[in-house]
Amino acid sequence: MEPCLPIEPAWPKSRNTRQARAAWGSRVVTIGGDAPVRVQSMTNTDTVDAIGTAIQVKELAIAGSELVRITVNTPEAAAQVPYIREQLDRMGIDVPLIGDFHYNGHRLLTDFPDCAQALSKYRINPGNVGKGDKRDRQFGQMIEAAMKWNKVVRIGVNWGSLDQELLAGMMDENSKRAQPWEAKSVMYEALVTSAIESANRAVEMGMDANQIILSCKVSGVQDLVSVYRELGRRCNYALHLGLTEAGMGTKGTVASSVALGILLQEGLGDTIRVSLTPAPGEARTQEVVIASEILQSLGVRSFVPSVTACPGCGRTTSTTFQELAKDIDDYLRAQMPVWKAKYPGVEKMKVAVMGCIVNGPGESKHADIGISLPGTGEAPAAPVFIDGEKALTLRGENIAREFHQLVEDYVEKRYGHAQATEHA
Ligand code: SF4
Repeated sequence: MEPCLPIEPAWPKSRNTRQARAAWGSRVVTIGGDAPVRVQSMTNTDTVDAIGTAIQVKELAIAGSELVRITVNTPEAAAQVPYIREQLDRMGIDVPLIGDFHYNGHRLLTDFPDCAQALSKYRINPGNVGKGDKRDRQFGQMIEAAMKWNKVVRIGVNWGSLDQELLAGMMDENSKRAQPWEAKSVMYEALVTSAIESANRAVEMGMDANQIILSCKVSGVQDLVSVYRELGRRCNYALHLGLTEAGMGTKGTVASSVALGILLQEGLGDTIRVSLTPAPGEARTQEVVIASEILQSLGVRSFVPSVTACPGCGRTTSTTFQELAKDIDDYLRAQMPVWKAKYPGVEKMKVAVMGCIVNGPGESKHADIGISLPGTGEAPAAPVFIDGEKALTLRGENIAREFHQLVEDYVEKRYGHAQATEHA
């Protein structure tokens, strides 16, 4: 059949959300509206250890986290928050801090005004602010603190700590329906209702609706998709998106990537967090790397140059190309803290490292700079392609080192000039 229309390139839908401003001093990170989807993360240090927490916040920020959440669970932790902020300012770490409050946030924000002021955003869990009469009063106290200090709030519902009174009431109502819904649907409804009604209460109290971000976290991929679709349909608050308790390693990474990928493609999610359980000894920064990769894979943001590498197969039995691909990837990531300022636009660079002649030259031509290594039985020569043209052929023992140098030269030539032009 003859094509009658060109195939549309896929792209995430846009959603017109409100824009929140997480500020500290004269600095601001915007979330929602026309802001890029923000990467955020959370520390796992004891907040009472101000130095240890500031160091981890610094690591997360350097890895690319644009907002960092810290636990504020005790008076001792709240007392340390201003010192953590101070340490970060002293180290030149430009990242806003979010306080994660449960149960006693109303008291901590009242008793520790320096903490309330040092944070840029408060996370409030409507399921954990108190029961009965206390619930509305304590929730109200936290909103008042946010209004007093002009802070963003995330009303963060989690199905592990869903407001039990609300859920019980909805279950009761459901049992009276002629055709009761499935328990799961009632749970979805309770999550979305808890978030939206809490936001409405905050707005009734006088809170600026732009300063409210919502989240409804669950741990199942399809559950998250169902809940966020409905949340997005019912409101235009900026949304914090994440799969809660995603788990460890491959499972956590894949589940988060699938869930966030689906929803981001539908325009749902203004800031994301990957809730990965680190393996013993694994860096906390891994969750930032994965969150950034999700956004970069979707093409919505660029953080580091990307390396396209083939998976390898029986046509290339040596490990040379695997080693080179890893070497280049590690090298590019390590350079980014310096390159970001020195070579504007370098984060969009594409490098290809391919294993043989089948797809090697073709894929390398699509990249900014690419190398097609010789497969088994091929002549020991590695053509290098720059900007789609074959530039030279590397031979001998030092192919890896020479390609490394070619990448460095390419970056300097292409993006060093961009800097010179920008500053001219
Ligand atoms: S490029 Fe060559 S080595 Fe790599 S996967 Fe394809 S056929 Fe195999």
